[in-house]
Amino acid sequence: MALVVQKYGGSSVADAQSIKRVAKRIAATKRAGNEVVVVVSAMGDTTDELLDLAGQITPLPPQRELDILLTSGERISMSLLAMAITNLGVKAKSFTGQQAGLMTDAVHGRARLVDVVPHRIRETVERGQVAIVAGFQGVSSTNDVTTLGRGGSDTTAVALAAGLGADVCEIYTDVDGVFTADPRIVPGARKVDRVTYEEMLELAASGAKVLALRAVEYARRYDVPVHVRSSFSSTTGTLVTGTYGDRIDPNAPDGEQEETPMEAPIISGVAHDRSEAKITVVGVPDKPGTAARIFEVVAGAGANIDMIVQNVSAAHTGLTDISFTLPHGDSPSTLAALNGLQDEIGFASLQYDDQIGKLSLVGAGMKSHPGVSARLFGALRDAGINIEMISTSEIRISVVTREDALDDAVRAIHTAFDLDSADGEAVVYAGSGR
Ligand code: ASP
Ligand code: MG
Repeated sequence: MALVVQKYGGSSVADAQSIKRVAKRIAATKRAGNEVVVVVSAMGDTTDELLDLAGQITPLPPQRELDILLTSGERISMSLLAMAITNLGVKAKSFTGQQAGLMTDAVHGRARLVDVVPHRIRETVERGQVAIVAGFQGVSSTNDVTTLGRGGSDTTAVALAAGLGADVCEIYTDVDGVFTADPRIVPGARKVDRVTYEEMLELAASGAKVLALRAVEYARRYDVPVHVRSSFSSTTGTLVTGTYGDRIDPNAPDGEQEETPMEAPIISGVAHDRSEAKITVVGVPDKPGTAARIFEVVAGAGANIDMIVQNVSAAHTGLTDISFTLPHGDSPSTLAALNGLQDEIGFASLQYDDQIGKLSLVGAGMKSHPGVSARLFGALRDAGINIEMISTSEIRISVVTREDALDDAVRAIHTAFDLDSADGEAVVYAGSGR
């Protein structure tokens, strides 16, 4: 008997009909002889609607109250799903994050799990019932309800799978798995059969929304195999694990197998991100300590910076420009903090640009294949797309372009790396990608 954790995203439980459809799938998994734990997201766009509602009451809702409000979305779907499953003759019980033993710190809005003690969930499955758990929520040591950040139901699912020692964590969404690019932009995107945690981390951090970044981090830490698949079809999806499995080099020394996948594809995908903006600090004195001071101020404003570029300074002025990217949401506080210290830092002015897009090419095979950057830059040149910033890791190359050139850039790169599928188009069953 296998223990399976299944997570259903908001688009898979968007209305009563969908909830009944998902219930059938869960009942079938149970009847096939498995122990089943289900994690569910809020129905459709409920979380956005609740956020909007709070915004109509006050521009800055107290974080504690916002968390209680948002967790209600998952409580609606969990109870309805339990009813739907029971209706099919399979016993099911729903639990809030608190009841399921998801203990977090007290940072409202983006709490981190500190412990997972799923006694009631284990009891429930041992009694032969299906346990349904509200995603994206937990409880702090002060007994306050917390949320894990947007997309946090993925993390709930992986954490429960780790805590229960499940055989697999299935993440059900509205596409057939992890694709070589967003099928909404590249119709010829292909489903990837396997990716390593390392690649999935880079993809998620680069804007791929199919799996939440923290869920991938958790899966890697606890070695939880994750199967990303569609709740709208029975197609096998994408397996996210530590290695390329049977394609591993059998001659590699112990412990190094993951580093030497025998046939790792050079590229596993092209991710894109429109959520960042660029700030340029113009006319900075080019002397020791300036960058340190600027980024102390930026860190103090709570900004999560991504790329940084410093220009060569103009010899006769001794001044340079420093640009960096950060999430749109972190921009107002960062601009205000920098402006407040203009005299101390001694820069001339600030430029703000929120019309940028970022494209990232990710693949473990890059480590051992020269020429990947040249091919990427060449494809962008041929498409007439200008590169504004570049950053790299061992298995990723990212470039910043104009936002309105981003879709074309993604398509050009997808084609340049021979990722386009020969047979038909990827199916997007619902539309939210969650
Ligand atoms: N409902 C939450 C959100 O929309 C959590 C989730 O779906 O994973 O972000
Ligand atoms: Mg999601």
